Amino acid sequence: MTKDEELPDFHTSKEFYENYEPKEILGRGVSSVVRRCIHKTTRREYAVKIIDITGGSMSPEEVQELREATIKEIDILQKVSGHPHVIQLKDSYVSSTFFFLVFDLMKRGELFDYLTEKVTLSEKETRKVMRPLLEVIGYLHSLNIVHRDLKPENILLDDDMNIKLTDFGFSCQLNKDAKLKEICGTPGYLAPEILECSMDEEHLGYGKEVDMWSTGVIMYTLLAGSPPFWHRKQMVMLRMIMSGNYQFGSPEWDDRSDTVKDLISHFLVVNPQKRYTASEALAHPFFQQYIVEEVRSFSPFRKFRVICLTVLASVRIYYTYRNVKPVTKELVTQNPYALKPIRKLIDACAFRIYGHWVKKGEAQNRAALFENTAKAVLMSIAAEEELY
Ligand code: ADP
Ligand code: MG
Repeated sequence: MTKDEELPDFHTSKEFYENYEPKEILGRGVSSVVRRCIHKTTRREYAVKIIDITGGSMSPEEVQELREATIKEIDILQKVSGHPHVIQLKDSYVSSTFFFLVFDLMKRGELFDYLTEKVTLSEKETRKVMRPLLEVIGYLHSLNIVHRDLKPENILLDDDMNIKLTDFGFSCQLNKDAKLKEICGTPGYLAPEILECSMDEEHLGYGKEVDMWSTGVIMYTLLAGSPPFWHRKQMVMLRMIMSGNYQFGSPEWDDRSDTVKDLISHFLVVNPQKRYTASEALAHPFFQQYIVEEVRSFSPFRKFRVICLTVLASVRIYYTYRNVKPVTKELVTQNPYALKPIRKLIDACAFRIYGHWVKKGEAQNRAALFENTAKAVLMSIAAEEELY
């Protein structure tokens, strides 16, 4: 049993144990373990985030920092409580060594795992995720709250596939037009201005717009099955982020609409002032289209069109699969793109590795990780020619 699999002892966490029975681990973070738990009197299931504030080799300052950060996380969770797309905090307990945050249980887990299983989402499914996500971001921003860690691992799904935003560990409520300078988040989702901030002491700081950049990264990833900014050398990846260097490459984007690409390109804008806000995004034709489709679903013309398209699709599927050859090594080596399922499998693996990398990145000491960021970006600029 590893250290984080051990349960806090009864003595230090009496209050929590009096009310709940802890069960299996559902997920882990840098200094937390999330377990399923059962409320003793009602027998209802919940998820408890157990934060060990003394764990590992933390200095007294770090312990104090984590304690303060957790109090801030609870405070923000309480402020946004009741929103249909925010995870509901039910209870919280504090001991000298642990925090216990009891949440509604999201049985279908992370959007990240759902995506890994499906490889990519259709535009329709993407819309179903993105609309509530933008609504909840708009709500947070209206309260001047910046989430700062938006990513598919922090978007959970309930039984009916509704999304709930979680992990407010990096969230911050800003005073009016105040700016942030702290470097935090997850590497692949970091906005360019956060990286710039880490390199320039004179930088004026960043604001809510960083969440809109991460939203663009999420949306791109849902549709492509792989992230827009990715390179095995982290410094190259950071350089790509800073210059907004991403592509709608082939074959992943061949069948995607111009409308969806247009929306993504309004999120992944290097200048935060020119980036879409949540309400601008919700007014984009990508979302209007959905309403039109829903209204149209009763029209006889649409029914006729759907029948025609279904027949056409069946004919295409018949001709495609009639010619499918057994998957041999030779076939893949001759033409790696010949068979889409294989290509998808490769994408899925890449995505798994990427996710693993993100989680590994998180598990490292965040401070050390970001201290290296500025150095890495500067080095990559100097060595640009060589690296590309
Ligand atoms: P951290 O701040 O350490 O990243 P999170 O709050 O993101 O912690 O939780 C870590 C993981 O635990 C999540 O990514 C998810 O897999 C799982 N998890 C968290 N809350 C719940 C919940 N309410 N229901 C189900 N799983 C959860
Ligand atoms: Mg998390």
